[in-house]
Amino acid sequence: MAKRNLTPKSENMSKWYTQVIQQAKLADYSPVKGCMVFRPNGYGIWENIQKSYQQLLDKMEVKNAYFPIFIPMSFLEKEADHIEGFAPELAIVTHAGGEELAEKLVIRPTSETIMYDMYSKWVQSHRDLPIKINQWNNVVRWEKRTNFFLRTTEFLWQEAHSAHANKQEAIDLMYEALASYREIAEDYLAIPVVTGKKSESEKFAGANLTTTIEAMMPDGKALQSGTSHHLGQNFSKKDAFNISFQNSEGQTEYAWQNSWGLSTRIIGAIIMTHGDDDGVVMPPKVAPTQVAIVAASQDKDIIAKVKEIKKQLQDADIRTASDISSETSLGWKLNDTELTGIPVTLIVGKRELENGKLTANIRFTKTKQKVSLENLIDNVKKILDSIQSEMFKKALERTKELTHSVENYDDFKKIMLGDRGFIKAFWCENEDCEKAIKEETKATTRCLPFTDNKGLVKEEDGVCIKCGKKATHRWLFAQAY
Ligand SMILES: [Zn+2]
Repeated sequence: MAKRNLTPKSENMSKWYTQVIQQAKLADYSPVKGCMVFRPNGYGIWENIQKSYQQLLDKMEVKNAYFPIFIPMSFLEKEADHIEGFAPELAIVTHAGGEELAEKLVIRPTSETIMYDMYSKWVQSHRDLPIKINQWNNVVRWEKRTNFFLRTTEFLWQEAHSAHANKQEAIDLMYEALASYREIAEDYLAIPVVTGKKSESEKFAGANLTTTIEAMMPDGKALQSGTSHHLGQNFSKKDAFNISFQNSEGQTEYAWQNSWGLSTRIIGAIIMTHGDDDGVVMPPKVAPTQVAIVAASQDKDIIAKVKEIKKQLQDADIRTASDISSETSLGWKLNDTELTGIPVTLIVGKRELENGKLTANIRFTKTKQKVSLENLIDNVKKILDSIQSEMFKKALERTKELTHSVENYDDFKKIMLGDRGFIKAFWCENEDCEKAIKEETKATTRCLPFTDNKGLVKEEDGVCIKCGKKATHRWLFAQAY
C-alpha cells in the first residue's frame, strides 16, 4: 500500500482522518450504513488495548462474564431516565423465527438492565456482595451521523458493572475505575486527559454521578474517551431491579452500584492525536506491530539475517513483522511502514551487515539512528520506551497550548470561533446558561475537573460568564466529537 493522495493532516484533519484510516487499512465502510469493518491493522490496536486494560481490571478484582445481546423491552423501561435517554437510539427486534415476538427484544445499547436482573437473583445476603463483572462485547446505538471509530452504530467496548453493600465502597471503586482510564489513556496510548464530573444534563441516563476522561484533539475539539458512573440505588431499588440483601443486622437494604465503559472510539483519539501528514503514528505500547524489519535487497545473507533478527525480537515479546518480498522496492516498503505508523523500522542491507549496525527509522520523529546488533533487544526496547514517553510529552504540550482560561463571554466566543480547545470558565451550574452557551458557540460542558483521584474539585469565587450570577467552579468547556 502506498500513500495515494493523502490529504495532509495539517491542511484538513477530518478529510485526512477518513483517508488515512482506509489507506492504512485500519477500517473500511460496511454494507450496513453506520457500521464499520475493523481490519486487522485496526482490530490489532483494540486487542492490545484489551490486553492492557485487562491487567487493570484484574487489579480491581473485576471478573469477565458474558450476558445476552437481546434485552426484553420491559427491562429497559424499569428505570425511567435510562429508557428516556436510550429510546431514540434503540434497534428493536420484533420478528424472529418467522413469527412476531410476544415481547420485543432490544439489541443491547448497554447492559445495565439485563445484568441487574441477574444480580437481583444472585444477591440475597450482604455476603453475596460485592459483585464486580466486566463484559468485552458489542453494543448498538442507532446513529444518524457516523464517523470511523468515533461514532458508529455498532461499537466494541468493555462495560463493567458492580454492586456493593456500602455506598462509600461503590464510590471508591468508581474513582478507581476512572483512575484506571487515565492510566490507559496516558501511559499506554500517550493521550493526556482531564478527569472530572459531568454536569446534570451531560451525565449518563440513570446515573447519580458520571465521571469522565476528556482528551483534546489537535483540531481543538474534545473527545470523551471513557466514563465511570455511580448509579446510586436507581437500578437496585424495589420498583426497578430489586437488588436487595439482608445486612448483618437482618434488615433489608438495596445495593449501591457503578458502571464504567471504554470503547473503540478511543482508537479514533490515537489516530488524531498522534498521526501526521504522512500517516498514522502508533504509540509503541499498543502498536499491532512495534518493529518492522525490511531487507534492502534479495541477497541471501541479508534475507537470512532478517529472519534471524525477527526471531530474536519475537522471542523477546516484541511485536515484529518482516518484509523480505522481492515484489516491492525498499522505498515502497518504507512508505508502507510509515503510512501504517509502525514505531521502528529496521533496515538490513549489505553495509549494515558489514559494520554490525542496523539503520532504524523512527516513525514518530522521522529520524534515522544506528542500532548496534550487539544487545539488539535492549537497544530496541530502549528506543520503544523513549518513543512512548516523547509521544506523551508532545501531546501534553499541545493540550496545554489548547487550554485557555477566560473571564468573559466575548473572549469565550472569540476562542471558539478560532483555534477552539478547552476553555476553563466560571458557570453558575444553571442548565439555561449551559444550553445558551451550546447554542451560541457549539461548546458544551465537558466536565468539572478533579484536582485529585478522589473527586476533589477547586472552590473559587467567581461569576458565570453567561449570566453574571455567582459561580463557585470553573468548568471545562469545549466543542466535542
Ligand atoms: Zn449562568
